Amino acid sequence: MSSLKFLNLNFGNANSTHPVWDSVEQNLIEIRKASTKVRMLTGTYMVQADKHKFSQYTIDPTCLLCHREIEDILHVLTQCPVLCNERKEYFTPIKQLVTENSPPGTWELLFNNTLAATQLVLDCTKYIKNLGFKKELINKLETLTRHFCYKTTLQKIISSEKARRLTIIIKNWMVKHRQ
Ligand SMILES: [Zn+2]
Repeated sequence: MSSLKFLNLNFGNANSTHPVWDSVEQNLIEIRKASTKVRMLTGTYMVQADKHKFSQYTIDPTCLLCHREIEDILHVLTQCPVLCNERKEYFTPIKQLVTENSPPGTWELLFNNTLAATQLVLDCTKYIKNLGFKKELINKLETLTRHFCYKTTLQKIISSEKARRLTIIIKNWMVKHRQ
């Protein structure tokens, strides 16, 4: 998978800023949120599938949170059951914005699969013609997807830490009860 798979390289011209940055207010927290999204968008957001590849296949690519599937960016944003609360909270208004402001049936036609939904979240400019969004709506969508990426990442860190601590507790318990 190319690391720039989700970035729409055909967007705009040399003088226009990509909406992922253009929509960001000049405050530190929003810039930080945008950086998380940019890392996802450009393939520099480290997931287990990347660690697996970079470790010459010695690191397990399975998601450390749910242990159900390979963890790639699609899994993080659209599949991982451990992150379902964030998905429900932040993805619902994204769907609502698209449904309310695009031609009838657009959502069902375009975004009812995980790859397209991920593309919409990471770089909506690929669908600009289908959506018919002007700058104001693009910025709204960018803000929602930026928050979604950031909150999901935050929860992923919290859940990983919980899982790590639980593993230590279980290991210690097993050592203690072996004697
Ligand atoms: Zn998972």
